[in-house]
Amino acid sequence: MSHHWGYDSHNGPAHWHEHFPIANGERQSPIAISTKAARYDPSLKPLSFSYDAGTAKAIVNNGHSFNVEFDDSSDKSVLQGGALDGVYRLVQFHIHWGSCEGQGSEHTVDGVKYDAELHIVHWNVKYGKFTEAVKHPDGLAVVGIFMKVGSAKPEIQKVVDALSSIQTKGKQASFTNFDPTGLLPACRDYWTYPGSLTTPPLHECVIWHVLKEPITVSSEQVALWDSASHIDCFDSFLQSGP
Ligand SMILES: [Zn+2]
Repeated sequence: MSHHWGYDSHNGPAHWHEHFPIANGERQSPIAISTKAARYDPSLKPLSFSYDAGTAKAIVNNGHSFNVEFDDSSDKSVLQGGALDGVYRLVQFHIHWGSCEGQGSEHTVDGVKYDAELHIVHWNVKYGKFTEAVKHPDGLAVVGIFMKVGSAKPEIQKVVDALSSIQTKGKQASFTNFDPTGLLPACRDYWTYPGSLTTPPLHECVIWHVLKEPITVSSEQVALWDSASHIDCFDSFLQSGP
């Protein structure tokens, strides 16, 4: 089976514009963050995370990664503040990691790539639903959190444990009573910029907040989510040959 996009030499980011012309657009993510080039803006507010563990719903293997999905039918779990106007509802989070060459963190800081990157995705309630929000430049708010291998993150263990029940693409399992606030680092200082989805369809609809402080996860934790994602990497390997 041929994938329109992936992270391999024949279908990686340099090729995404062939099927998704916006990949050559003006506000594409991820970006290389330069701490020297970043400017302090005193008008920016602190990020305000207000999550209700009761909105956690399911964990889904989408073939590239896994999504932890939340009930977004009410304002129980929302993000406000930062560079945002109004209220953004939590819909899902997922992780990009380095099990395939060329993956790992998506954003870089002064040229440095982290081992993985957590994305917490929210949509602007003024657009009524996620699928409408992605059509607008302020439709989504994604918080990016760098991850590096070190000491274990107990708060992420429940996610790691759930992965064993969604080992193949399309599988999903119930995932309830989970508050993603536990995944955040102690310091919530951030870099912000207007950008896009980092995977096709690459819509330029995301206000990014990338947290400066990384979180750490253990190599045992990474090994477990690695094993839940091998389908797609293995496909790419078969296509590229020796
Ligand atoms: Zn992402």
